[in-house]
Amino acid sequence: MSILVQKFGGTSVRDAECIKRVASIAVNAQKSGDQVVIVVSAMGDTTDNLIDLANQVTSKRDPREMDLLLSTGEQISIPLVAMAIHDLGAKAISQTGLQVGILTEDKHGKARITEIKTDKIKKYLNDGNIVVIAGFQGISSITGEITTLGRGGSDTTAVALAVALGAKRCDIYTDVDAVYTTDPEIVQEATRLSSISYEEMLELASLGAQVLHPRSVEIAKNYNMPMRVRSSFKVQDEGTLVQGVSKMELNKPVSGVALDESQARVAMIDVPDKPGIAAIVFQALAKKNISVDMIIQATSHDNVNEIAFTVDKENVEETKQVANEIAKEIGAKSVTIDPNIVKVSIVGAGMIGRPGIAAAMFKALADASVNIQMISTSEIKVSCVVNAKDGEKAVKVIHKAFELDKIERETQKV
Ligand code: ASP
Ligand code: MG
Repeated sequence: MSILVQKFGGTSVRDAECIKRVASIAVNAQKSGDQVVIVVSAMGDTTDNLIDLANQVTSKRDPREMDLLLSTGEQISIPLVAMAIHDLGAKAISQTGLQVGILTEDKHGKARITEIKTDKIKKYLNDGNIVVIAGFQGISSITGEITTLGRGGSDTTAVALAVALGAKRCDIYTDVDAVYTTDPEIVQEATRLSSISYEEMLELASLGAQVLHPRSVEIAKNYNMPMRVRSSFKVQDEGTLVQGVSKMELNKPVSGVALDESQARVAMIDVPDKPGIAAIVFQALAKKNISVDMIIQATSHDNVNEIAFTVDKENVEETKQVANEIAKEIGAKSVTIDPNIVKVSIVGAGMIGRPGIAAAMFKALADASVNIQMISTSEIKVSCVVNAKDGEKAVKVIHKAFELDKIERETQKV
């Protein structure tokens, strides 16, 4: 018998009615012959509300206590789902990360899963249960303390479980019915993708298309675990299949356009042009655990350069401090920070070996009079930093230029 893992996000379990719907989806999957493991998030906005509550009692959130607090959200939803399944006449048992043995790094707030014990889950499955597991939480493999995986981490729990259990697939039920070529709230003509490769999905997820937790896609890719993104409100709809190299014909070089509003641009002006400077700057940032995304160094004049880079908005204050200290140390003139930027990116496995894709993107922006401040490229991605006010316009014109409103892909079944 094959195992199917289904994950239900917060909106899918936001109230009693939704919980009953989830229960029936799981029971139907079991009836059609699979052993079913489901991973559940906290109900609705529970996690946000718990964070608000913490902020009301303290200005210094203790990471250990925060993990213990936030893990309660999922602990509420799992027994409710299990009992709703009982009501449908099927067997179910709920399990926290601690009970299952979801082991993680010894780190609070953003731990990575290191190992999942499967013996207990398999025993429950073989006894005919649907096993309902709390997402987003685990325990430190060193101290046994409760840890969490970072916001949105239930996707990662689900995929990691699917891999550990050798499942046939991991279905992610969320509040959108599929992965789209871009955010349908920005571009009405955005179209659904019936399938997408891990690599493309990973890029899109990391670029702020908030459909999947990037780490979950990374694990799926590393272990070749097919995922389906679908809606618990439209059960007949198969959504989007995320999978490895597929036979699908890519008839467009670009699969999606993403808008990332989470970054700010930092520029160090008149940095001396000599060996070792970039190392000093970025080592200092790395030491503070600040990750840098795009980096551009431009030679200007008189043996000085400008070094510009982007960081997460939430790290801006710290970056400013570090950058100013370093500027003094290396004799740079000044540091400027611009939070008013966004990053617009195109992603597509089909752009490999097709020259002219980046140029077509720049042309679309030029025709719309959008100024490009920074550019970076990888094998399957081109990103441009533009002024925040131009972000949505940029997405629209690029989506149109690549005719993503006309994209068509064959659906593939696993
Ligand atoms: N409840 C957690 C959050 O809201 C985890 C999740 O939903 O995936 O971030
Ligand atoms: Mg959530």
